[in-house]
Amino acid sequence: MPELPEVQTVVDTLQPCIVGRRFVKIELGPHDVVMPGGFGLVAALRKRTVTKLARRAKRIVFTLDDGNRFFIHLGMTGQLTAESAAAERKKHTHLVATLDDSRQLRFVDPRRFGEIRWLGRSPDEATLGPEPLAMRQSTFAKQLASTRRAIKIALLDQRIVAGIGNIYADESLHAAGISPLTPARELDDAQIGRLTRSIKSVLRRAIGAGGSTLRDYVNGRGEAGGFQSRHRVYNQTGKPCHHCKTAIKRIVLGGRSTHFCPKCQHV
Ligand SMILES: [Zn+2]
Repeated sequence: MPELPEVQTVVDTLQPCIVGRRFVKIELGPHDVVMPGGFGLVAALRKRTVTKLARRAKRIVFTLDDGNRFFIHLGMTGQLTAESAAAERKKHTHLVATLDDSRQLRFVDPRRFGEIRWLGRSPDEATLGPEPLAMRQSTFAKQLASTRRAIKIALLDQRIVAGIGNIYADESLHAAGISPLTPARELDDAQIGRLTRSIKSVLRRAIGAGGSTLRDYVNGRGEAGGFQSRHRVYNQTGKPCHHCKTAIKRIVLGGRSTHFCPKCQHV
């Protein structure tokens, strides 16, 4: 599933193609991926200019010249790309938005866990936690003190910190030398400091590499990411730890695959 670095890369690669452009034609596929259901997206977008494209958590947020906003969430398999109008349309294309330079913004999502959600002029949902790249250690400490769950599970909770998923939770905990099983509220100040710094550095390096492509993820130009070859623990079961050569272990925690070094990350 695309996480913060992948979504940021999509935003960064789409910005030059989309911002300042006007939608001239909107086509929706047969499956309704627009929320709230029944909303008239075609009429709401037609002739509107995109004034801003930004990321919030794992959402790609569009601001229009009439002040309305909507976001696209890529879900598990979503791809959002700018294409020439002549490019062949992929199966499972749910949105084709033709721009005033005749290029097309296309949203493809075979498994349909993604969505296009109209926000109108309402503010962001208050349920999202802080952005990890801008987060202070003291804020993070407060968030972690609020849950009894294991730190790995807490990191996946978008209300505690927004934008992290399975890959970057595992990578950040390994970089910080913290067991995924440690109860979040039992982390001490030194551990929270290390984790705050590790999350930022892992996410920044992943953005620098254009994100991780495991299966479907591509950026706004249709290109795969490069960070998957630099994963230290995620999907590295049985391989030697980068620091201590102990075999990386995989367990299932809260229903999710969790990868860690049993030596560097002991409880
Ligand atoms: Zn190790």
